[in-house]
Amino acid sequence: MYISMYKKIYTKILDTLFPEYCLGCRSFGTSICMSCLSSGDRILSQDSLPEYINPIYSYKDPLIKKLIWQLKYKNKKQIAKDIAPIVYDALLPLITDLQTLSGVQVIYVVPIPLHISRKRHRGYNQSELLAKELIEIDKTGSLVLSIDALLRTKKSTPNAKTHSKRERIQNTRGSFEVNSKLLAHSHIVLIDDVVTTGTTLGEARKVLLQTSAHSVHAVTIAH
Ligand SMILES: [Zn+2]
Repeated sequence: MYISMYKKIYTKILDTLFPEYCLGCRSFGTSICMSCLSSGDRILSQDSLPEYINPIYSYKDPLIKKLIWQLKYKNKKQIAKDIAPIVYDALLPLITDLQTLSGVQVIYVVPIPLHISRKRHRGYNQSELLAKELIEIDKTGSLVLSIDALLRTKKSTPNAKTHSKRERIQNTRGSFEVNSKLLAHSHIVLIDDVVTTGTTLGEARKVLLQTSAHSVHAVTIAH
């Protein structure tokens, strides 16, 4: 606990001494500027993933990889705020489609949770930060944040350490529990930083559908 408090103070001091510069072009005042984000390598076809998953950038783009790394492991929370407009743009057509097709107004935004011990260690959940920023900039008034809807009950091994598809599915099986029945019959968009094989999102979607969510889609920064 004290370590994480000192870590927070230390980061605050560093942020004051060394303000934000764009990760791409080093321009002042932003963690990643719009011009660098616009030139990021976009995913044009996501054939290798299920249709309900909508990744934005290619994880092979070195800048995107760096950006996600900094957001996840280097306490660069500002990145969530700076990238939110891009993620929101990717979310908008989905919101419109869901509302047109089903007539519902409210869409629940659910960030993929971290296991409690991992969140405690990191001090935050990057997907939760991003989801909060999306609600902040939402102009439709249709998005409702639901942070506690999903609970991560099992700590998974990082994908890179598991080999076959079967192993990955076994690794993620039972990872989530639905925390509340509030989302029954609702339309949900899951938010995550990176989708690799889609097994984690698939597992989260499965448990939500089992508790009678109407539809579950996902938007991720990269694939
Ligand atoms: Zn830039």
